[in-house]
Amino acid sequence: MFNDFLRGAALKLLYPMLMLVSAFMKDRKEPFQRMIINISNALVRKRKYGVRKILLLLPHCLQIDDCQIRLTHNIHNCKRCGRCGIKDLIGIAEEYKLDLFVATGGTLARKIVKEARPGAIIAVACERDLSSGLVDTYPMPVLGIPNERPFGPCVNTRVDLEKVKEAIGFFAGV
Ligand code: SF4
Repeated sequence: MFNDFLRGAALKLLYPMLMLVSAFMKDRKEPFQRMIINISNALVRKRKYGVRKILLLLPHCLQIDDCQIRLTHNIHNCKRCGRCGIKDLIGIAEEYKLDLFVATGGTLARKIVKEARPGAIIAVACERDLSSGLVDTYPMPVLGIPNERPFGPCVNTRVDLEKVKEAIGFFAGV
């Protein structure tokens, strides 16, 4: 309980203060966001869970940019060609029986969370979307995994699948 209180303080008080400071120190914005994600993750991990309904929320930019298939309304439209990580993430979601969605922004992500009513969320995104998403979904337990951006922001991003599996195991209590 106290950990949830601390998480709330970090997300609702520390985060806006750091974002205010970063308005004057632009190069500190992403490190501050990463710090908030790390604090929140660490506090979520202080508790044990045995969640049955886990939502895995992915950013649209994990899909390779020349794939024409629309995944936003149904990620299972993916033809599983293997040119991007979506194929493996669908496989993981099937194996662990997770709800899996691609969100194109904060508004859609909030709608998905409201409708799916999960017990816990694993969210993959850039530091900016993750940190603001953590604030929006508090007090829901969320583990945030920053995506990898070898081609720069918002295009052909990746995620470490082992980190996703570890987070699933953590929430499932296995
Ligand atoms: S795995 Fe293939 S079909 Fe599925 S989203 Fe990626 S590129 Fe498109």
